[in-house]
Amino acid sequence: MKVLVINAGSSSLKYQLMDPQTQEVLAKGLCERIGIDGRLTHKVPATNGKYEFEIPMPTHAEAIQSVLDALTNAEHGVIKSMSEIDAVGHRVVHGGEKFASSVLIDDDVMAAIEECIPLAPLHNPANITGIKACQKVMPGVPMVAVFDTAFHQTMPARAFIYAIPYEYYEENHVRRYGFHGTSHLYVSRRAADILGKPIEELKIVTCHLGNGSSVCAIDGGKSIETSMGFTPLDGLPMGTRCGSIDVSIIEYLMETHHLTIEEVMNILNKKSGVLGVSGVSSDFRDIESAAAEGNKRAQLALDMFCYKTTKRIASASAAMGGIDAVVFTAGVGENSPELREQIVANLGFMGIKIDPEKNKTRGEEKDISAADARVHTLLIPTNEELVIAQDTAAIVGK
Ligand code: ADP
Repeated sequence: MKVLVINAGSSSLKYQLMDPQTQEVLAKGLCERIGIDGRLTHKVPATNGKYEFEIPMPTHAEAIQSVLDALTNAEHGVIKSMSEIDAVGHRVVHGGEKFASSVLIDDDVMAAIEECIPLAPLHNPANITGIKACQKVMPGVPMVAVFDTAFHQTMPARAFIYAIPYEYYEENHVRRYGFHGTSHLYVSRRAADILGKPIEELKIVTCHLGNGSSVCAIDGGKSIETSMGFTPLDGLPMGTRCGSIDVSIIEYLMETHHLTIEEVMNILNKKSGVLGVSGVSSDFRDIESAAAEGNKRAQLALDMFCYKTTKRIASASAAMGGIDAVVFTAGVGENSPELREQIVANLGFMGIKIDPEKNKTRGEEKDISAADARVHTLLIPTNEELVIAQDTAAIVGK
């Protein structure tokens, strides 16, 4: 079976064609500058081929068409015709409370995804555009929606409710939803496999630390607490997002700097996080280099990020009443031994301890725990596309 995985943004579209059974990625790539001009980068892992094209992409439909053309091209294609694509799996950011798992897309599902637009005004419209574009150029091919929020629908009310008047939950759906669900699900399942134990018997804290970051408490395979909230702005400080702050700061900044609410929200989403504190960059590599050269604010940004992540790991463990494994994943989690070491440095009291030698690695699955640790610390590269492809295959195969 071959599944095309699509992750559509407002002006970009990532794709992977993969076999969910063998997990082989036949081709993958990225359409950029949709609606501006259009650029396609197409990669074929089997031959290490990388191809770049300038193709007009006024809408997502032309972008999808260019992907299909690349996939079936005589030179750099990987399939003979579009009919070899059995199904399409779409990443959808927000499923609200309607979706606790992936679903086959039909008119009702499309309507429900549209109803979630107010909850994710930047992301869901782009995802919907991607689905409609695929339906247009691939009529009759079954499509599945896989939601970032679905995995966290198992959170109990005491974890997802905000302490504001209850009617805002009932009438306006204001609650904690959580994101990165596909990633937390994938790495927690892999952790159980690596440890050779049924996931039902494990308490796992997964740390997805990238440009966006979140920590999740997974008890018996179910998300029971996570750091992102109503939107991905909540929780840990990120590349450019502030994470949890005292909301009174918003009013104070509006008054002292005569800013509109849009301007303040833009600052909190795009100019805060480690970028805002360091003044250097939103990219952790740049910040680590600057800190190594003695930049104090860059060091402060890293210290703050690690400190808050440490506290989140401890609180996620407390939410479960224990912890068997902590997992690091995503750009920073997979690639920065220094930050991993700093994050766990204060968690020895909980039995979390890493072996500095084993920790000197990046981008591979590995148990990096110290010999005398009571809790496993694992490094697991995430693979959201594989979950999307496997969910799609399972649903379409039914
Ligand atoms: P996104 O949320 O955009 O998917 P990623 O998971 O790709 O983000 O993570 C991007 C982040 O990972 C960037 O801040 C980048 O600096 C960081 N990163 C990538 N490689 C390294 C590295 N070798 N050391 C430290 N940070 C890294």
